Amino acid sequence: MSATPQQNALRSEKSRRAMEEARRWIPGGVNSPVRAFGGVGGEPPFISRAAGARVMDVDGNEYVDLVGSWGPMILGHAHPAVVEAVQAAAARGTSYGAPTELETELARTVVSRLPGVERVRFVNSGTEATMSALRLARAATGRDKFVKFEGCYHGHGDAFLVQAGSGALTLGVPTSPGVPGPVVADTLLASYNDLASVEALFAAHPEGIAAVIVEPVAGNVGCIPPEPGFLEGLQDLCRKHGALLILDEVMTGFRVARGGARERFGVPGDLVTLGKIIGGGLPVGAYAGPAAIMDQVAPAGPVYQAGTLSGNPLAMAAGLATLRTLGEAGNYDRLEALGARLEAGMQEAVGRHSGKLAFQRVGSMFCLYFRSGPVRNYQDALQSDTKAFARYFHGMLRRGIYLAPSQFEAGFLSLAHTEDDVDRILEAGADALAEALGS
Ligand code: PMP
Repeated sequence: MSATPQQNALRSEKSRRAMEEARRWIPGGVNSPVRAFGGVGGEPPFISRAAGARVMDVDGNEYVDLVGSWGPMILGHAHPAVVEAVQAAAARGTSYGAPTELETELARTVVSRLPGVERVRFVNSGTEATMSALRLARAATGRDKFVKFEGCYHGHGDAFLVQAGSGALTLGVPTSPGVPGPVVADTLLASYNDLASVEALFAAHPEGIAAVIVEPVAGNVGCIPPEPGFLEGLQDLCRKHGALLILDEVMTGFRVARGGARERFGVPGDLVTLGKIIGGGLPVGAYAGPAAIMDQVAPAGPVYQAGTLSGNPLAMAAGLATLRTLGEAGNYDRLEALGARLEAGMQEAVGRHSGKLAFQRVGSMFCLYFRSGPVRNYQDALQSDTKAFARYFHGMLRRGIYLAPSQFEAGFLSLAHTEDDVDRILEAGADALAEALGS
């Protein structure tokens, strides 16, 4: 085993050189922006290997991983069932562009865990899933406008790239250059956990709204649970106004319960988008729902959506192995227990640093905010002390704990984490917090 960072000061020479080289060829050196450590400063470790709950970097440091590839690795890294399934699939050919029984098998498995869902279409990412679900919702309702919530992330499809400041709460303003104003003109913004803000949008748009899309747990501004009644209220409003409720379960699907957030919170939505865990660490997304809506997708219906690598056999094999293993008895209880153990320790820390921290958790996803709680929405999350978070983050990294490099991301536990791992995280956390908060 390589030395853990707390035994040796963090070695970083090779990672620094790797980043320098990467920047010559890849914009910012990374293929997804948060990886570059812009939110916390410093240079990211380059990962060479991962196993179970650990990731190893090119300098020989080893970390307890709380990122889990941003959600997919709920079994832990390189789980034997997944590795075996992928290897066996690869030996049979990596892509055919033709139907396979593996796709049906994964679709049947997904449907069996999500009551009310009858059809699944596989795509290659969460971004594709939400783009396609929105197109379908617009086609099914014959309306263009849709509601998203400030701070909710649904991938980088143009229409979703609106977060906007408070001044533009009901007016779509693109977050990124390159997104034309007209493309987001039908994107309406509401405030998370605030039903009145959604009601106001329905009232202001009598021409009709196609859909409301929501992360049932807001996991892209940390971890914000839906308040009791919020999701139910969205479902009621959608029913009343003939709009579709799209639950974006790319992060929460198969994580917060066997049947995802729709099971945990008892709100089924009309369409559901999936990703991360259903690919077991390979690139997969999906959108799903009742046959009456889903059969409007080509070639069953007129709503076009396609993909050269969609339903890729390696990805299907990884997803199937992951869902089968995850579905074994006791696994969600175990994730809940690990989460509760982490929370108990973290709440002690929150108590020690009274007024400066809030710990929020849903099952095995969580966030430690550097502000007092509760954090109910995007605006609340924005008031976090990101400088203190950055100090904490680096303190944790030095102690061998790999957190997401941003205050506005959820952490993830996996079935590979042990009670000892959790205790080690808490121990490191106590020291790193004392350092970061100067107490
Ligand atoms: N929806 C949600 C809720 C997500 O968390 C993410 C990614 N974090 C996406 C959509 C986009 O998925 P992808 O990165 O696979 O395109």
